Amino acid sequence: LPNKNRDVPKSRFLRVNTLKIDVESAVKEFSKITTVNHDEMVPDLLVLPPGVDLHDHPLVLDGSVFLQGKASCMVANALSPKPGWKVIDACAAPGNKTVHLAALMKGRGNIIACELNQPRLTILQETIRRSGATNIDTIHGDFLDVDPSNPAYMKVRAILLDPSCSGSGISAQRLDHLLPSHTEDIDADASKRIEKLAAFQRKAVEHALSFPSVERVIYSTCSVHQEENEDVIQSVLPLASSLGFELATPYPQWKRRGLPVFDGSEHLLRTDPSDGMEGFFIALFVRRTQPNEDIA
Ligand code: SAM
Repeated sequence: LPNKNRDVPKSRFLRVNTLKIDVESAVKEFSKITTVNHDEMVPDLLVLPPGVDLHDHPLVLDGSVFLQGKASCMVANALSPKPGWKVIDACAAPGNKTVHLAALMKGRGNIIACELNQPRLTILQETIRRSGATNIDTIHGDFLDVDPSNPAYMKVRAILLDPSCSGSGISAQRLDHLLPSHTEDIDADASKRIEKLAAFQRKAVEHALSFPSVERVIYSTCSVHQEENEDVIQSVLPLASSLGFELATPYPQWKRRGLPVFDGSEHLLRTDPSDGMEGFFIALFVRRTQPNEDIA
């Protein structure tokens, strides 16, 4: 059985929405009620002690800050889109990373946020409204149907891909997953589900890499399964390499890297409950050679 004690108490993380408030004003406000520190890796992310309940705080309600875990915030920050870029958030709802992208881009440029599921699209639109971002367009549809040769998407320079996954890195489900299964059928169903998810995840990464001007593609999951993480990345490497992409090393100071199942997996990043956060996975592709760069 899992040893719950190895999970260190989780700090509360607050991402300051710099579209609405500056970091120092937020620190001043939250210092009135608790101790506030700055996260060492992600700018605009504040660390508060475990157990502080902020759900009803006025700055949370009005979108000045987002209650967003550190691992989740590491994703858009590592993609590092520049103000003025055109960016796609491929699987966007509820939109925490979408509005983080908007803040990193200082509200300039254009974000296209794609979401398949209608009720979740409504939640995404509400998140965008609360964030105050005005440069995000939503698409209700399948990311795999977003056509890379459509002039509207030909200039997309960065894609954030955080697709549906098993969620096995999120605490409750993670513990469930580690508990003994009742029947073999449950195991078989779970492994079939992961296989299906991984097939979609792989297709979605390949699709993201196929946009003609894309320079940076980040893939993330909140899964601890190798099948949805390292295996997906390994399976797309030949295509990625043929298109001029390499794996970059997000947060090189972070020690927990991908499982050592292929050469280069040290570029990948994992987080774990023993790091005081949920189980996440991040892979970052960067295009070293732009097709047009050779044309002098
Ligand atoms: N990035 C989001 C955030 O940080 O708030 C979380 C994204 S969630 C893990 C994955 C989302 O992808 C779900 O809302 C799901 O409905 C959506 N989705 C699944 N398949 C999709 C597809 N083919 N095209 C677009 N969205 C899809």
